[in-house]
Amino acid sequence: MKAAESLSAAASVEDATSRAAQLAAAHADAVDREGRLPTEVLDALRAEGLLGLLVPTRHGGPGLPLRTVVNVCRRLSEACASTGLIYAMHQSQSAVAIQHAQNSDWLQGLLARMASGQWLVASATTEGATGGAIRSSACFLDPQTDGHLRLRKNGAVISYAPAADVFLVSARRAEDAAPTDQRLVAVLRDQIQLHAHAPWNPMGMRGARTDRYDLVADCGPEQVYAEPFSVHMSQTMLPTSHLLLGAVWLGIAVSALGRARAFLRHRNRGGAPLNPIANLRLAEGETLVQQFRGTLAACMALYEDADGPQTATERMVSYNALKVGASELVVRVTDIALRICGIQGYMEPGEFYLSRHIRDAHAAAVMVNDDRILGSLSTVVLGVPLNRDL
Ligand SMILES: Cc1cc2nc3c(=O)[nH]c(=O)nc-3n(C[C@H](O)[C@H](O)[C@H](O)COP(=O)(O)OP(=O)(O)OC[C@H]3O[C@@H](n4cnc5c(N)ncnc54)[C@H](O)[C@@H]3O)c2cc1C
Repeated sequence: MKAAESLSAAASVEDATSRAAQLAAAHADAVDREGRLPTEVLDALRAEGLLGLLVPTRHGGPGLPLRTVVNVCRRLSEACASTGLIYAMHQSQSAVAIQHAQNSDWLQGLLARMASGQWLVASATTEGATGGAIRSSACFLDPQTDGHLRLRKNGAVISYAPAADVFLVSARRAEDAAPTDQRLVAVLRDQIQLHAHAPWNPMGMRGARTDRYDLVADCGPEQVYAEPFSVHMSQTMLPTSHLLLGAVWLGIAVSALGRARAFLRHRNRGGAPLNPIANLRLAEGETLVQQFRGTLAACMALYEDADGPQTATERMVSYNALKVGASELVVRVTDIALRICGIQGYMEPGEFYLSRHIRDAHAAAVMVNDDRILGSLSTVVLGVPLNRDL
């Protein structure tokens, strides 16, 4: 893309993001209260062309960099974290679809449809039998006599399934394959049947409509990505999901601290005596947000510097450290915001009410359990040098 074109693309993304974020903010409380998808915002994201931002120009998209999308995600999350979460997961799945289509006509054609139809991509990796251990599957790709593949995945945890156009589903390569010998398959909405379990009443991220399903899919063998799922995970899904979700958690933290600052300004304007302790808390929150932004920015730069000197292991440790650090920081910052706002943050209604932010923040540590991530790092970190240069 030429410089002038990329400038105007950036300006139009900026404007479109502002409009979508305004809409998301207007509906955030209703979406949370009713535990419903932010359909009006998803419609706007489609209409504004913000869903297909990563799709390369040769497939009809603008081919914008992940950094742009991470910033869109943060802006949406400041307004409504459920919307941000949907956007983050969709873009991470899109990145996988883009990076790993290889020379498959069908999978490349999917990218063109994602751009032209502004398709929403969902993820079905978690499974009842294996729980949070997404690097192993019980379900498998089962060839049928007519040449199709059938896939039955029970207890799949899927966010925003009713709105999704395509699902990336993990499964064992074949019935006799080991649990970790997995492939990813792109299944279209009309190829999938979802039998919902009793609906969950989640603590937070209620607008993402994360529910459990028994999934049955019938699709063609050309819809299976050629490389093992482990390659998608390490090369694309892990870095992009931690960067995009990191932007979601940062968005929540910024929004909560913004409410706390507005609360203090409101008090000051009303002539209340200065509250040095609350001001100190605000400063503490600001330092944590700076730390948060710094870690996210460092990982973003690491992602962009694909040819840099860091080993694959060092990169994996950095992205996972971002995930675990962000889960802690977002909870700490929302807690600080609550202490500053006091009862005004605790009680509804009111412009300083923080319940939604606090409940949404707790999704970070659970959505791929932090302990599982630390567990997977616990042996690796023994060999990673601590005294690396900046
Ligand atoms: C808001 C939200 C949206 C989600 N959306 C989707 C989606 O769209 N698609 C999808 O596929 N999944 C989704 N998930 C599921 C998510 O990806 C995880 O699989 C799920 O949250 C893990 O659940 P868990 O904590 O019960 O499982 P586990 O990770 O199994 O953790 C259960 C317990 O076991 C411990 N534990 C287990 N194994 C280890 C280990 N090896 N080391 C250390 N501790 C261990 C954990 O500490 C924890 O106490 C979503 C989850 C949330 C919260």
